[in-house]
Amino acid sequence: MDLCFNRLLGINYKSEAQKIRVMSEEWLENNISCPSCGYRKLTHFANNKPVADFYCEQCGEIFELKSKNGPMGKKINDGAYKTAIERITSNSNPSLFVLHYDDYKVINLEIIPKYFFTPDVIEARKPLSSTARRAGWKGCNIIFGDIPKQGRIPIIKDTKVIDEKIVVNLFNETISLKVSDITKRGWLFDILNCVNLIKEDIFKLEDIYKFEEKLKLKHPQNNHIKDKIRQQLQILRDKGYIEFLGKGLYRKIK
Ligand SMILES: [Zn+2]
Repeated sequence: MDLCFNRLLGINYKSEAQKIRVMSEEWLENNISCPSCGYRKLTHFANNKPVADFYCEQCGEIFELKSKNGPMGKKINDGAYKTAIERITSNSNPSLFVLHYDDYKVINLEIIPKYFFTPDVIEARKPLSSTARRAGWKGCNIIFGDIPKQGRIPIIKDTKVIDEKIVVNLFNETISLKVSDITKRGWLFDILNCVNLIKEDIFKLEDIYKFEEKLKLKHPQNNHIKDKIRQQLQILRDKGYIEFLGKGLYRKIK
């Protein structure tokens, strides 16, 4: 796979953002198959379809592509805050490709399935100042670094291309984490993030309770954080992500 963008595509565009958009979209179309079903090619939507950038002719999944230069970091610039929130709470939310490039070459590419998005992941930026052309307009960042690692599936990692079958398997494995009710989704991913932060594969209930303060800051209206933790651990067990060993001991599975 050639990881370099075709720079010739950019010559007719003045703005760097437009150049990158054209080059990165063409690169993805030529090189990446559908992470959901493995179909060899994704199709670009006509430019007047604002809902997403690509779709798969075989399985119907829709995808958006966001690219960033420099260090990968944990957040990426998105458009209007209001639109982003509306989109993730709707049924037409696309899965997101996060592409990280340097010197017009792809370094990292990951796919985040649509059901990993919660309003918490969308961070509002400061409204534009009163002197700006679009005064008061409020943009946002997607804090993809807050999404549990199970939802960030690598396709290219440090320029190494991951086997397509592995990508499709990981993508479909995460379907078990799909929670339709977006308000319940946040709690499940918060607890999964806590489990991921524990270094050992076998852990105690007390190890998760250590995150109580942090969770309380995120959910100040909830006075029963410990109950919530145990409830979400049961859900993660039912979904096959952890195993209950008894006597307050748990084992990570995925
Ligand atoms: Zn597909």
